[in-house]
Amino acid sequence: MITQIDHIGIAVKDLDEVVAYYENTLGLHCEGKEEVASQKVRTAFFHVGEVHIELLEPTDPESPIAKFLESRGEGIHHIAFGTNDIEGQLAHAKGSGARLIHEVPFEGAANKLVAFLHPKSTHGVLTELCMPKS
Ligand code: ZN
Repeated sequence: MITQIDHIGIAVKDLDEVVAYYENTLGLHCEGKEEVASQKVRTAFFHVGEVHIELLEPTDPESPIAKFLESRGEGIHHIAFGTNDIEGQLAHAKGSGARLIHEVPFEGAANKLVAFLHPKSTHGVLTELCMPKS
């Protein structure tokens, strides 16, 4: 079951510069930065009520975020739904006709298991499912 919107992922070119924007202009507090080797990104997280903002900066030209920035520029990259059963949610999405980018969840940022649904099968929104790693 999907229980919440966990975070909104935003692709950025310069993580430190954009962290400064969220801190100085919006007055939010950065909870921390983390490199996610599996996705070739550096991330920074902000709490906004129950939802997080996840900034994503590519660390490699082959990063999916680098490709996104090249074709679309900076901006909203994905929406992540929190679930209490990521395997079940993925199986349900697949059974409903969605195209899975990841058949098997992998370790993402913030100690979570994550998997993505392809935006071509989700009406244009790159959709992440995530669940705290137990
Ligand atoms: Zn995410």
